[in-house]
Amino acid sequence: MKQLGQNLKNLRENNLAVLLSAIWDSENLSRADLAKVTGLAPSSVTRLTQELQRIGLIIEAGKGESSGGRQPVLITPNPGAGIVISLNLSGSSLLGGAYDSANHLLKHEEIPVTQYGPDAILQYIDHLMDIFLHDPELAQKKLLGIGVSISAAVNVEKGEVSIGYYLRLRNFPLRRILKDKYHVPVYLETDTSVAALAEKNYGAVRKTDDFIYLLISTGIGVGMIKDGEIYQSNTGMSGKHGHIVIDRQGPICTCGKRGCLEAIAGRGAILENAKRIFSEGRDPFVSELIHGDLDQLDLPHIAQAAQMGSQEAKNLIDYVAELIAYAISLYTMILNVPLVVVGGDVALEFGDIFIQSINRQLSKFLRDDENVTILQTRLKKDHFLKAISMFTIQQILGEMYQAPAANHNGPAEK
Ligand SMILES: [Zn+2]
Repeated sequence: MKQLGQNLKNLRENNLAVLLSAIWDSENLSRADLAKVTGLAPSSVTRLTQELQRIGLIIEAGKGESSGGRQPVLITPNPGAGIVISLNLSGSSLLGGAYDSANHLLKHEEIPVTQYGPDAILQYIDHLMDIFLHDPELAQKKLLGIGVSISAAVNVEKGEVSIGYYLRLRNFPLRRILKDKYHVPVYLETDTSVAALAEKNYGAVRKTDDFIYLLISTGIGVGMIKDGEIYQSNTGMSGKHGHIVIDRQGPICTCGKRGCLEAIAGRGAILENAKRIFSEGRDPFVSELIHGDLDQLDLPHIAQAAQMGSQEAKNLIDYVAELIAYAISLYTMILNVPLVVVGGDVALEFGDIFIQSINRQLSKFLRDDENVTILQTRLKKDHFLKAISMFTIQQILGEMYQAPAANHNGPAEK
């Protein structure tokens, strides 16, 4: 069996995955339609659909309209082959979704995360897995695999969290631990890469092959789709882009440095700053929104106050947006990709006013000949989980596809 990293690289060539995506996208297509949609040869479609049928991921769903000859057989996804559990672990919550084998959401759960380190993180994951596996509906279904997206730098080939400052994880072999426990394939990816994949499949840049995804949440990270695929840096150290130093006199960051972007423009840092700015009822708009209780203060209040006319709130959003605009100018210059989708809790909770401010301030940091487009994410949390589930099923297929002929009908070709 090939390395996971190679599977990833081969995803595009993996005709089974391509065909399955097409069948998920538009249910009830004939084999001739599928050949048209995917660009695969009709003979390959016939062979590959047999393979997907044998694995149980698709079924025949009656006959379609005839265009003169025989009525074509329609192909549709089979939700009954089993379930995939998608997990997304950020610095503030563990989000989980159970998906059927046609990639439809069956059950959704979220638990807050307040403790960090390997033991605490495993307890959260086990707790959420228990909820899914003991659900009366889900317990009867076969578990096909687990996909985990994590807010940390991941070594995808080893299936390890190489470093998660906030989550306090280092060289943490999460894939092996979960595999040993649940006896199914487990896939691990850094959350920014999964977000980029979700954006490409369900979001603001559908079918775009080159773009940067900037996640601004508790942590700040960058994911990239290059030539249509997740771009993996050679070091397996993606997800560290939030640790560029913006202010050498700034606060100490979780990574040990002083003044990282994440330590100033991450969600926690913004809130801390906001609580200082808006303490003791200093801003009438904010005070009204939080009923005078500073503990209630959250990012949407600040965005709302800015829209109501609070200059303090506007200044705070502009300040964060300026730092982000500066960071974007560095990322686009170094990675040489002029399209950036901005997502994550901060982007979602601050909303349009934040994206507009980034756009306004970006020109300060760009060369005259440079053009960078900023888009706001259109993803919801469910899209994120759906992308993890899609990714997991594709990875399982990738492994089956490359497995020896003993459990396979032979390699399929284009
Ligand atoms: Zn840092």
